[in-house]
Amino acid sequence: MTTNGKIPSSELVKLSTPGYLTADAAKSFERLLLRTGTTGTENANEAYRSYEEQARIFQQNYTRTYTQYEPGHTDRRVWNGVSWYRKKGYASAAVPGTSFHGFGIAVDFQNLGGYGTSTWNAFAAIAIQHGWTNVEGKTVNEPWHWLYNKTEDNFISKDNDMLVTVKGRTSFKLISGGLIHAISEADKTRLVAAGIPYAALDIVTITAIEAATAKLLEGGTITVPPITIPPIVVPPVTVKFPQFDIAVTGTAKPHA
Ligand SMILES: [Zn+2]
Repeated sequence: MTTNGKIPSSELVKLSTPGYLTADAAKSFERLLLRTGTTGTENANEAYRSYEEQARIFQQNYTRTYTQYEPGHTDRRVWNGVSWYRKKGYASAAVPGTSFHGFGIAVDFQNLGGYGTSTWNAFAAIAIQHGWTNVEGKTVNEPWHWLYNKTEDNFISKDNDMLVTVKGRTSFKLISGGLIHAISEADKTRLVAAGIPYAALDIVTITAIEAATAKLLEGGTITVPPITIPPIVVPPVTVKFPQFDIAVTGTAKPHA
């Protein structure tokens, strides 16, 4: 496909860790980080890669001379009609123009551990619910390489993100993908700057949303009566949470 590695910057979203992904994958990536506490990426090329970057990595790891990357093992790939062989001791790399990193939907997650470790297993159990799979990575023995598939993301239809705080308190939470996360002041600043709606809610509303979220995590479906927060400052902001059957009207705060 012609778009591989040539996605316009306007269609890429900057991640909270180094690198870029396409919009849905980026949103899901952030949810996954919040939910798993994973490091995410450490270098930009662990997420979206331009064609030129993929070509650079491929030429670094492969050579046109016949080579065994391990005794008795060769990894031959054809790029523009020419055979290339993986160099001894190097990782595999997709032929430029074919990597899912070039579509902005692949991430090499750092510090996950190897197959069978408790860290990797715990991450995998959650990642699958968010539409991420290691199926391709497994074929080349890369526990870090994950692909995003929007149609397998159980949380994409619940992506009405909103920042909330309890009135009179200074801790912040993010409702995202049908989940509620405690976040830091720094994260709150970053998300407000990115245009996420922000409202101060009363403790009853917060408790109702948290209870609904807990049920959702157990796999149940929930219906919570609509709750309306009287606006304190005009203009109020109204955010709907279809998954909770809640419409919340709260105080709109100007962006910092
Ligand atoms: Zn990868």
